[in-house]
Amino acid sequence: MIETMMTDRRICGDCGVPEGHIHMLGCDMESCPFCGGQLLSCECCYTKLGIDLSPGAWTYENGLTDEQEKIWVEMLERQGRIPYIDYPNLCCRCGAVDPSMFRVPDVEWQRYVEPNMRDKMLCGQCYNQIKAWIDEAADLTPAPAGRRS
Ligand SMILES: [Zn+2]
Ligand SMILES: [Zn+2]
Ligand SMILES: [Zn+2]
Repeated sequence: MIETMMTDRRICGDCGVPEGHIHMLGCDMESCPFCGGQLLSCECCYTKLGIDLSPGAWTYENGLTDEQEKIWVEMLERQGRIPYIDYPNLCCRCGAVDPSMFRVPDVEWQRYVEPNMRDKMLCGQCYNQIKAWIDEAADLTPAPAGRRS
């Protein structure tokens, strides 16, 4: 028998619904069904409602009117709002769940992390390990002699 119920069903940290449920309206964990970004901060509500966002025409303080808000919610519902499912970030090398973020200068990241891995998540431990190994190997390789023309 395959166990079909997962026991570690998570609860949205912002609005409190369990996984599989639609977030409460205004939850900042909800994804936008139009662009996939954060629903609270993307500009789809303005672009979809045809609101002129050019400077002078509109300011963020204006927000949506109650009427616009209503139309927007209907558009969202027609498009299909995205239920809450927690997709943890995994270290792409060791699989550690939700590794803490760390900062690395771009040049350093590009030096040690190969191109198709650069937009992935690495935990600090793996990154330091990769770096150490690459440096170690580089130390064993004699520097090319002479100049490039
Ligand atoms: Zn939520
Ligand atoms: Zn959007
Ligand atoms: Zn790792």
